Parts: sequence; structure tokens; C-alpha cells
Amino acid sequence: MGRTAAISGALPDPQACADDARTLAVRGRRMRQRRRMLDLIIVSFMIDAAILLIYVQAGTIQPIVAVAFAVCGGVLVSILFALSESGFNDRFSDHYLTVPIAITHLVLIVGFAAWVPQIGAFFLFELFVLFGFAALRADRRQGLICWGALLCVLSPLFLLTDLPLSLPHQSLLERFATLLALVLTVGRCMFIGAFSKAMRDSLYKRGVQLREAYQRIEELAELDELTGAYNRRCVMRHLDNEIERAARHCEPMSLALIDLDLFKRINDTYGHPIGDEVLRTFAITIFANIRSFDRFGRYGGEEFLLMLPNTDQREAQQILERLRLIVAELDWSAFSPSMMVTLSAGVTTMTSAESADSVLSRADHALYEAKHGGRNRIAYA
Ligand code: GH3
Ligand code: MG
Ligand code: MG
Repeated sequence: MGRTAAISGALPDPQACADDARTLAVRGRRMRQRRRMLDLIIVSFMIDAAILLIYVQAGTIQPIVAVAFAVCGGVLVSILFALSESGFNDRFSDHYLTVPIAITHLVLIVGFAAWVPQIGAFFLFELFVLFGFAALRADRRQGLICWGALLCVLSPLFLLTDLPLSLPHQSLLERFATLLALVLTVGRCMFIGAFSKAMRDSLYKRGVQLREAYQRIEELAELDELTGAYNRRCVMRHLDNEIERAARHCEPMSLALIDLDLFKRINDTYGHPIGDEVLRTFAITIFANIRSFDRFGRYGGEEFLLMLPNTDQREAQQILERLRLIVAELDWSAFSPSMMVTLSAGVTTMTSAESADSVLSRADHALYEAKHGGRNRIAYA
């Protein structure tokens, strides 16, 4: 239950409720994973019990062996199911309880091999299936513990007894059962391998999806929502980088502060949504007409910053004059037959290392000149 419920009369804490819901969701997912694992254990026990019945039919072993094996399997799975459903497994970091389950199975398998050595090898085959399953979940330390347990349990069987652990092959039925034992053991091992590959593939796919999502988040954090240009935070970062780069390579770097003329009037005349569309169309137009290495971002409102790396004063003036003409001559009649959109820009060029503030202030001053000069023009500082 939620922690918040304990405080009677208090409003539930949304964070605590979210944590509780997340914990419940994780527990539910883990329980479903454990149920799938138990299904596999049941199927594995049923396959073995069926082969044992064939050995009973062939007269190799007593029926009590098959019955005892089925009962042991049933009891083991019931205990594991009860523990899992009661939430006991969730107390451990490895909620599959890989090591205890592997060791219990190991003891059971080797116990049966010692009890009925005439089909001892059949039981020992099971170890491949068992350790294949365990390897899917175990980390390095758990793997070593399981392997150590295997050594401890098998050593007395092989070194302290001389039980003739074998595979019967006298009659056709015995050979059939042995064939099944071999084929089905190898089959289960292959299934485990395929299952592990599917898990790896799914993990890889998740990793790729995560990387893509992360990249998209980074892009969104850098872009202005309305125009798709860099946002102010990002454009300021680029400006610092470009200034530093220009100083390092002793290259000229030009900067233009572009402002749409009388934009307030556009909003007032045609409405704010049309104003938004004009901003978007303006940004797309600029993007389509600048070089791949130029950087264009929204400085705020209807003001934009264009960085022109490795561009001197003359070239910068030409570029801005061309952009001014393109915008002024653009057909805006889709928004309204009488609409006219123009820009003014203040351009400046820096050659020696100076701060972003000082370059911006020069560009701003030039922009002011352009506005006072009658708008729809480029001024150079
Ligand atoms: P000037 O030629 O002197 O620059 O005149 P102006 O009208 O463009 O300048 P002013 O600073 O007076 O007005 C800018 C307008 O831009 C006011 C503001 O509502 C509008 N604006 C700023 N951001 C947005 C936006 O995201 N969408 C829309 N539609 N309008 C915006
Ligand atoms: Mg303006
Ligand atoms: Mg403005």
C-alpha cells in the first residue's frame, strides 16, 4: 500500500504514489518473468518423466523411479511457485534465486543418478540443461558458486563410488529412450542458446532505441520549437565556440543580428498565428539560403542571429544583402495578398579574439542604425 495512506487525512504525496506504482509494476513484471521460467522447468521435468516412463516400459527401471522423479519435480515447482507468488523472491537482488534453484536441481539429479546408475548417464545429461539455464541468469560470482557446487557433488559420486553410470541400449525400446534422451537434451540446450540470442537481440534493439531517443531529446533541447532554428541557449554556445575557433585559426568571423521589420504590425493585422507562420517561413527561407557551416538561431522574439564563419566584411555584406532581397521578394500572398515582410540586419566582423558580448553589442548597434535608416536594409559596424 502507498506510504501516504498511513498519514490519515493528509493528501497523498504524488511522488510517493508514483514510486509505489513503479515498484508494483516492477514486481508484476518480475513475477511474470519467474512464471515463464517455472513453465520451462515444468516442461523440462515432463520431458524427463516421459523418457523415464519409456525406460520403465523397457524394464530398465522400476516404476517407482519415474513416480519419485515426477513427485520431486512437482514438489520443487510447487515450492518455487509459492515462494515466487508470495513475493519472497523480491527480497533478493537476483529474484530468480539462480544459485539455490541450480544447487537443488543439481542434488536432485545426482541423487537420482546414484539411485538408478543403470540410467545414470541420462540424469547426468540433465546437468547440461540445468547449467545452460543457470548461465542465462548467473553473473560471474554465481556461475563460480554453481560450478563449485557441481564439483563438490560430482566428486564423491565419481571418486568415492564405483557405480556403473551408464546409458542402457540392450533392447530397441531402451535404445529409443536413450536416443530421445540425447536428442531432447541437445534440443533443450539449443533452445536455451536461441533464447539467450533473442534476449541479446532485444537488449541491442533497446540500446539503439534509447540512443535514438537520447539524440532526439538532445536535438529538442537545442532547437527552437516554433522555427526549428537553434534556440538562444544553443546559439550563444555556438557563438562562443565560433569566436574561439576564429581566434585559434586567425580567421575572420562575421555575425549578423537580423530583426523582422514592423513585426508587431503583422501580428496586429493578421493575427498571432499568422505571425507564427511568418516566423517559421522566414526561418526556413534563411536555412535554405545559407551555407552548411553557417549557424542560424533564434535570439528572441523576431530577432535572429546568423554566424558566418571564415567570412570577411565584404562577403558578409553580400550574403546579408542577398538574404534581405530573398525575404523581401518572397511571395507572402499565401498568408494575405497584401502582406510584405522585410528584415533589417546589423552586421559585424571580428578578427581578433573578443568576447561574445562585445561582438553582439556592435551588431546590435548596427541593427539600430539599419532601423533608423528606414528599415529593410543592412548596416555594417
Ligand atoms: P521593428 O521594425 O522596430 O523591429 O518593429 P517591430 O514591430 O518588429 O518590433 P517590436 O519589438 O515592437 O515588436 C516585435 C513583435 O514581435 C512583438 C511581439 O509580439 C512579436 N513576437 C515576438 N515573438 C513572437 C512569436 O513567437 N510569435 C509571434 N506571432 N509574434 C512574436
Ligand atoms: Mg522587429
Ligand atoms: Mg525586435
